[in-house]
Parts: sequence; C-alpha cells; structure tokens
Amino acid sequence: MIKGIVTDIQRFSVHDGDGIRTTVFLKGCQMHCFWCHNPETISHKQELQVNTAACIGCMACLSSCPHGALSKVDGKPQYSRERCKVCGSCALACYAQARLLVGKSMSVDEVMAEVMQDKAFYDNSGGGVTLSGGEPLLQMEFTMDILRRCRQSGIRTAIETNMAWPWERIATVLPLLDILMMDIKLIDPVRHKDTTGIGNRQILDNLRRLSKEKIPVIVRTPVIPGVNDTPEDIGAIADHLRDMPNLLYFELLKYHPLGTGKNRTLGIENARILTPPPDEFMHMLAEVARQRKINVRIAGESAKHK
Ligand code: SF4
Ligand code: SF4
Repeated sequence: MIKGIVTDIQRFSVHDGDGIRTTVFLKGCQMHCFWCHNPETISHKQELQVNTAACIGCMACLSSCPHGALSKVDGKPQYSRERCKVCGSCALACYAQARLLVGKSMSVDEVMAEVMQDKAFYDNSGGGVTLSGGEPLLQMEFTMDILRRCRQSGIRTAIETNMAWPWERIATVLPLLDILMMDIKLIDPVRHKDTTGIGNRQILDNLRRLSKEKIPVIVRTPVIPGVNDTPEDIGAIADHLRDMPNLLYFELLKYHPLGTGKNRTLGIENARILTPPPDEFMHMLAEVARQRKINVRIAGESAKHK
C-alpha cells in the first residue's frame, strides 16, 4: 500500500485553483526559502512543533516523554530538541495544543476518504483537488496515485510545484492534471541559489518545455522584500511568460510574515521578519508585468484589480 507524509488537508480552500477545492499539503521540499509560509513542509520527516506561548504549565507532557527530552525549569517544561525522538507522546498529552506532531503518514485510501467528502462542492463550483506542500513531486508515487484516483472519481486536479525536476518527472504527471501551478522566484541564477538553496536552470528549461504543452499554467511569484521586489526582477520573470500560449495568468503574492512564527516553533534558525510591501507597490509591480501583455493578478485582490 502506498503511503505518504501529509501535514494538512485543507477543505474549502479557494486560493489554490478554481472553485472550491481540497488542498493536500505534502511534507518535504528541495528548496529552503527563508520566507516560506509553510516551513513545517520543508523537512520530509515528522517534526515536533512547540508553541511555548500556548503552554498553560500543566506539566502533563513531562511524564509522557519516554526519552528524557523534557524537564521542569522555573515551573515550565524545558525541551531538548537534541534528545527528542519525535515520538509524539507529549503532543497527545498536551490539551493546550502547545505541542503538535507535524506530518502524518497516510495511505492514499485515507486521503481519498477525506477528499471525497466534498465531491458535490467540487462539482457545483468547478473546483477539485490541489496537491501542494512542500513539493508534491518529491513523493512521486503517492502523488501519482492520488491524482489517478481523483481522475477515476471525476475530480479535477491541480498541483503546485517548484518545477526543479528533470523534465521526465513533469511529463509523467501532466496527463493526470487539469491545471499546473508553478513558482518562479527569480531569474538571476546566482541569487536564486543563494535564497532558495538550488539553481533555477532546470526550472526555466521546464517552463520553456511546458509552454509547448496544452495544460493551462498559473505562474506565481512571492514578492519578498530585498529578494525580488524590484521592477527589474518582476519584469524579467514576466519576460519569460510573454510567449506562453497556455499561461492562464501570472500571480504576484505579497510577502506575509506568517512563516516566521512557525519557524520558531520548529526550531528553524533562519527566521527574518520583513515588512510586507504596500498595496500600491504591488500594483506598480503588477503594471510592470502587464506591460509584457500578459494577464496579471495580485493574490487576494478582487476581480476589479486583476
Ligand atoms: S502539556 Fe502542554 S500545556 Fe501542559 S506543560 Fe506541557 S506543553 Fe505546557
Ligand atoms: S516527541 Fe516524544 S521524545 Fe520528543 S519531547 Fe515529546 S514525548 Fe519526548
């Protein structure tokens, strides 16, 4: 039986494709962008998320830990990530949900049981299922099996991928998709590697090959202060999209510091809090992209701004 590691299944999602959707977040990504909204999906392993602000000091976790990773200091639990074996006992003991085990091993049947609950909503709204993450193509067999089962059940499918794969992997998944959503963070290869951890040559090669396919494509760029928030960087990305006949639209996503707090709870050290770009600045960047005669949207804005 094929199993995968899932961080969340979000029902009634309206941001990851058309209509009402269920988004399945898979754990694991080859990139490690410091601005990631979902840093709990970067590692492919299960993790313990510790939110000390939610702790009510009941100490129920202390006796539940079989590995000596918790001790009592000044009336609060002191946690050693080094000793922790991520067994999840303390998360079960914690009623305040200050300790959560992130990443659940699920079979395709279990995922489909959740997905099928909203079949009527997909049918009525033109929605479906989106596989996101993390990077869904990292758990290729699991992803392929979910997509196949969705197809067999008449559910429309989409994935959100970083496209940093050999083309063969992309080509394998395309026949099972109705929409492909991909990120382009930067065109400059050096800065791309510095900020994401990997180069972008494969991504841009795949974009070129994708433009010869029939599948509708949405390209998204998170606008990150100090990383790619210049007219030059956004213009350079838009230049790569101008001759793409299957581009549905290019979407700009305003940086949000949501991931910073989550990083702390996961013990990730690269937390940086930036100021989100103002709306007017996002509109200016969108105009820069529109000058390339492509359809441009700003995520979260109403149709009149699109
Ligand atoms: S069980 Fe939860 S709320 Fe209670 S002390 Fe431990 S972390 Fe805090
Ligand atoms: S996950 Fe397991 S090993 Fe880690 S602190 Fe909790 S109970 Fe201890």
